[in-house]
Amino acid sequence: MTEAVLETRGLVRRFGALTATDGVSITLRPGEIHAVIGPNGAGKSTLIAQICGTLAPDAGSVWLAGCDVTAQTAPARARAGLARTFQVSRLALEDSVLENVLLGAVGAAGAARHPFRPVLRNRALRARAEAALVRVGLEAQAASRAADLSHGQRRLLEVAVALTLSPRAFVMDEPMAGLGTEGSAMLTGLLDGLRAEAPILLVEHDMDAVFALADRISVLVYGKVIASGTVAEIRADRAVGEAYLGD
Ligand code: ADP
Ligand code: MG
Repeated sequence: MTEAVLETRGLVRRFGALTATDGVSITLRPGEIHAVIGPNGAGKSTLIAQICGTLAPDAGSVWLAGCDVTAQTAPARARAGLARTFQVSRLALEDSVLENVLLGAVGAAGAARHPFRPVLRNRALRARAEAALVRVGLEAQAASRAADLSHGQRRLLEVAVALTLSPRAFVMDEPMAGLGTEGSAMLTGLLDGLRAEAPILLVEHDMDAVFALADRISVLVYGKVIASGTVAEIRADRAVGEAYLGD
């Protein structure tokens, strides 16, 4: 078996009496898209927050490229190659598209915004940011304000921001949310090509996208992984149908 790029071991997180993450162990292997699905409130975003380091687990550990990163901050994990997109966009809407990508190239996750202006003059970073925009097909919008992009283009911009990290692994929380048919198709094509570069842990409600993209699916219900397998295995799983797919 190939070593996991990203792994959680027995993660537990409680909010008062609620156990939002109840012993979650999952792996992300090279080259794959591993989708995490589950109903609202299942604990998907809570799991991602622990993986990315914005929320501390009560028990268990997170491993990135064979290193235990459980005690590391979110920016440290980002610098170690963990690239994240958010369920709720964190773009700086008043800044230009290129500035947003540069911000990602410099600050990693959640870094301060103020020491940012000198970056605009850093050629290596600028080249990297421009290359990321080409990857997502937004090079013609580089000078536009992020606020002037369509919703779908903003999602692509978030992926471009993540790309500047030369990530080892992507973690994405509902990237398809709010996209129309055309936007989802564009993003699906982009993610399909990205997996060869770095595997993707994909939390997603859009089941068409999940079935089109996922190499493996894990189903999270009340903080527990109740099933894990290929698309065919998960579609055929009766417990999953009852708990989630509504069959
Ligand atoms: P999902 O992303 O699968 O919809 P979440 O991870 O957002 O689910 O939430 C899982 C559960 O944990 C929900 O019941 C939610 O209300 C609860 N929860 C999430 N964050 C907090 C928090 N900061 N404080 C208290 N409860 C929380
Ligand atoms: Mg969520």
